[in-house]
Amino acid sequence: MQAIAVLASGGDAPGMNAGIRAVTRSALERSAVVWGVEDGYDGLVNHRMHPLSSRSVSSIMQRGGSILGAGRCEEFLDLEARKLCVNYLREHGVEGVVVIGGDGSMRGAKELHKLGIATVTVPGTIDNDMPGTSLTIGCDTAINTAMEAIDRLKETASAHHRAMIVEVMGRNSGYIAVQAGITTGAEMIITPEHPVELSEIFREMELAGQRGKRHFIIVTAEGAPLSAPALTERINAADNPYEARFTVLGYTQRGGSPSRLDRILATRMGVAAVDALWAGKSDVLVAWQRNGIEVIPADLDAPRANPWDDTLDKVQRITTT
Ligand code: ADP
Repeated sequence: MQAIAVLASGGDAPGMNAGIRAVTRSALERSAVVWGVEDGYDGLVNHRMHPLSSRSVSSIMQRGGSILGAGRCEEFLDLEARKLCVNYLREHGVEGVVVIGGDGSMRGAKELHKLGIATVTVPGTIDNDMPGTSLTIGCDTAINTAMEAIDRLKETASAHHRAMIVEVMGRNSGYIAVQAGITTGAEMIITPEHPVELSEIFREMELAGQRGKRHFIIVTAEGAPLSAPALTERINAADNPYEARFTVLGYTQRGGSPSRLDRILATRMGVAAVDALWAGKSDVLVAWQRNGIEVIPADLDAPRANPWDDTLDKVQRITTT
């Protein structure tokens, strides 16, 4: 390949920069020109990409966000607009595109592939909800951020005999909630996949009160049936041993310097993405599977990481006693 392009699409995730760096330097090593597309597919639609050098990706590994920007692009959903993007790429000699993003971004990559541009998706999303891979870039850092925040909230909850409801990100996936909940010893975890009845929450609170627990931490995912404020209101309206407060961690979980795991994962996946392009592959996903990194067909119906299994059920039970 003479030239490739790299873009970060959808919501940003810590580690995307390490991915951009790895893709750029691997392709440069093969004497290709590397184009950095700004703000996801929007940069293709609005003709905003620039050549990347080894120096332009220096010292970005440790930075959160994406030096190329990231984001959504409605126009790219239109076939005619996508055809113009392909013309734009071809005018610059680009034969392959590495897309770093979530499942929506992979859909976009699939559409580009149909128009004759080779595409490889590198999974980048804090929610860890990509089909086909058990791990995505950004989720480890996001979980660490949530974990540290919950540790702090637990201390203040203990001092005041409070229930603390902490809402973490995850509109469709409870992965962050489960991992952050287990690593902080939360009394309850509520996720979209694993909702909990109010009566069960009240019963657990009652039992925790009887056991002399000074706090009751509930980690709830964004996509849980009740929002953190609504759940707090319900708890405080009922007769419970704890007075409830809530904290929504929100966008803090997206930012920050990527963890060692996200840096390694993104670097290895970026290298694998370039290898895949040079091996003539297209419409593929770089996935983390049981045996390490694998390049698999981009299949939107492949199973996602399961945030909760029987073993975790037992692990969680020991924190509630
Ligand atoms: P994520 O990649 O984090 O899941 P989105 O679902 O918002 O984020 O998708 C990111 C972008 O990918 C969209 O704004 C759009 O430009 C592109 N995209 C998503 N679905 C399609 C599709 N079916 N066809 C073409 N492009 C798509």
